[in-house]
Order: sequence, then C-alpha cells, then structure tokens
Amino acid sequence: MTLSSPDIELSEALIRRFDTLGPRYTSYPTADRFHTGFTEQAYRDHLVQRNGRLDNPPLSIYVHLPFCESLCYFCACNKIITKEHGRVAEYLTYLDKEMTLVAAQLGPDRKAVQLHLGGGTPTFFSADELGQLIAMLRRHFSFTLEAELGVEIDPRTVGGGTLAMLARLGFNRNSFGVQDFDAAVQQAVNRIQPLEMVEKAVEESRKAGFQSVNADLIYGLPWQTRASFGHTLDSLIRIAPDRIALYNYAHLPQRFKAQRLINDGELPTAEERLQIFLMSMQRLLDAGYVYIGLDHFAKPDDELNQARLNNTLHRNFQGYTTRAECDLIGFGVSAISKVGNSYSQSVRTVNAYYRQLDQGALPVEKGFALSPEDLLRRGIIMTLMCSAPVDIEAIERDHGIDFNRYFSRELQLLKQYANAGLITIEPKAIGVTPKGRLFVRASGMVFDAYLSQPTTSIYSKLI
Ligand code: SF4
Repeated sequence: MTLSSPDIELSEALIRRFDTLGPRYTSYPTADRFHTGFTEQAYRDHLVQRNGRLDNPPLSIYVHLPFCESLCYFCACNKIITKEHGRVAEYLTYLDKEMTLVAAQLGPDRKAVQLHLGGGTPTFFSADELGQLIAMLRRHFSFTLEAELGVEIDPRTVGGGTLAMLARLGFNRNSFGVQDFDAAVQQAVNRIQPLEMVEKAVEESRKAGFQSVNADLIYGLPWQTRASFGHTLDSLIRIAPDRIALYNYAHLPQRFKAQRLINDGELPTAEERLQIFLMSMQRLLDAGYVYIGLDHFAKPDDELNQARLNNTLHRNFQGYTTRAECDLIGFGVSAISKVGNSYSQSVRTVNAYYRQLDQGALPVEKGFALSPEDLLRRGIIMTLMCSAPVDIEAIERDHGIDFNRYFSRELQLLKQYANAGLITIEPKAIGVTPKGRLFVRASGMVFDAYLSQPTTSIYSKLI
C-alpha cells in the first residue's frame, strides 16, 4: 500500500528503510541519560537561580496522579492499581508539601501559563479532590487568565456532570484514552469502554466548553486487523476530536509486568502493523486531519497545527506543545521537571516520595545538568522533531561555531535522508519535507551525542 495525499507521498519501501529504533525526544539528553549525580540540592540550585530575574520564562506545570481502578494490560505508565479512594487524601497532602518547597525556591513572580494533569487516572480523584488540587495549585502559583489547563480522562470514570465540573474548575483542554472500540481488543487488554461512552464524554466536553479535545488510539494491540481498526477510526472520525494521537504499541513484557498478561500469539504481525498504520494515516488525512509529527494529528484550525505552520511548535514530556519558552515543573511521583539548563525526575514510588518530603527534601531521584554542547544539540534535535527549519546562521551566531565544520560528520550522515527526499540541506538551513515528518526521529538521532553510549532503555520504532 502507498500512502498518498496532496501533502505526503509515502511508500512501504521508504518506511522499511528509514523506520529505525530510536528515542522519541521528549527531552535531550533523553531520560535514560539522567543520573543520580544530579541531586536534590542541584534541583534546588536550578530553581533558585531563576528567583527574582526579570527575564524568567513562564511556568508549565505537570502533576502526576498515579492511581487507577483497574489495570490495562498494555500500560507502560507509572501507576498504582487500587480501589481505595481514601489514598488520594494522603497524596494530596504530600503534593501540597512539594508545591510549598518548590514555590519557596522559585519566588513569587513566576506566571503559570499551562497545567497538565496526567497519570494514572486523574479522574480517579473525586470532584471535591480535584477542586482541592486546583485550589492548591492556585494558592502556590499564579495562573494567567488565558492559561491552558489540560487533563487526561479515562472515559470509564466520567459520570454525568464530571466534564462540566472539570470545566468549572477551569480546565479547557482534555485528552481521552480510547485505544480501540473493538470489543475483542478491549477484552484482550482489559479495558472495556463502549463507543457510546466515549461519544457521550466528547459531546459533554463540547457542551462544557473545552477548547481542544484529544483522543488517543493504539495500534498493534491483540486481535487488531486492518478492517477492525478501520471501523474504530471511522467511529472516531465521526466523533471528530480536535486532535488524535495514534500510538504504536511496544510489546515489552520483560520490562512492563502488565504486558505479560497479553498473549503474544494474539498480536498482529509486523507486516499487519505496517498495513494498519498506512491505512490509519490515509484515513485520517482523507478525513481532513493534518499530520503534525510522530504519532500526532490535528484538525487544520487546532492550535497545534497553527503552531506547526508558524514554526512555534515545541516538544516536552507530554509530547507536542504550543508553549515553548516555559520552565516545566513536575509534581508527584516520577514527574520530570525542566528548569533552565537542567532536567530532574522524582522518585517512582509513593513511599519514597512521602519519605523524602517528610524529611523536608524535594523528592528528586535523578536528573541532568546540560552543558553548552548539550544545549546546542538539543536546539537542533527539537527543531527537527517539530519539522521546523534548522537556521544555520542563527546557530552560528548564538553558539559561536562554524556549523559546517562543527557538524561535518552529521552533515555527511544526513545526506542519505536528503537523497531520499526526507530533508533538504541548504547553505542557510536544514529543512524537513512533508514526508520527512514521519522520520524526524532518524534525522534527530544524527545529532544525538549520547547514542553511542550504553543505555538501559529499549527504544521503539514508529511502526
Ligand atoms: S492505561 Fe491509563 S488507566 Fe490504564 S492502567 Fe495505565 S495509567 Fe491506568
């Protein structure tokens, strides 16, 4: 099958040739390079460095809420499966402690322009508990009037009135975990949520005034076929979310215990996955969605596509984002922060999280302080990941280098992508072509100075 749209022409042969295993670059260096030599004190120092400065960027805040009522077998998130809703109160108490510590280092003048609640299942929290969380965030941080407030939603947890309640709390963006509407697939992954449930939740989001609704799909799950996934896509296209993320299921049972509950023999073959991917992409493009990059599609008027067109698209731990210039502050277990030239990640378990906060310490487990060389490479990799042109003159000016000499090895490696029509190399810029948007990881990897070093991470493919 060949994918064909006014914008993108793509053959199976091209995918087979360039779909390499590689990082998804939600950060550079990637999170597997974070190390414990980056301590709690190092994170404090980075937070304090910014205190009182006039040129401070605004804040983007992420809160990880790890609880879920039942286990989805494909899940690779850091979550706690429990039916004990009483555990939320204690977690909220500790989030408050963490926010108190962070806000004291940051100082009072930082504006928050973005909030994202992820998990786990944020809607495991009751209306009252989410209200407490929002009040807590507003007590510690000052949100701008036009701030984006986003929340991940498990459709099985939203009863009548939940979406209106979330809108009243100020949420204006949401994201539904859909995965697949097929009953056999849902059974095999232990996530039963009929089409009508999602339909109703999206409809209620619209009535409640949510500005952007996202739906996540996963292909490569047990029992999926081209035909069955085609039905799922048709149904979702009818529901018409503003954005659709089409993730590739990475089956890594040796790494993720939950995935051992998936029977290998029920998974589609590599060839079937390729066909499902091509069919899905074709159907989404035919339905009028625009390909943003990696796994993401959006309606033409969605702000994500507008940012792509204006070259203001950016990437962080939540994927593509319109807010570039922010310091990202993560709260809760395993949350990652990006402050100035550093990354830091919190401990993964609630016990360790509570223990460190009880001692008055920020719950940092590991992190990374970026060198000038890392910053230079990060800028180029993230630009390529967003399919924006790499401005060679600006880089030479900002970093005091001769680009061609400094990156002579990389430019040599990039030639194969240029010859295949995936990128363009010109004296003043490196550009990504429309079909090259599918392979930005591969061109980004050329600039990754750490790839030759051993890693504990298992990288995935696009397909
Ligand atoms: S996929 Fe979401 S709801 Fe399912 S177990 Fe993982 S975090 Fe929980």
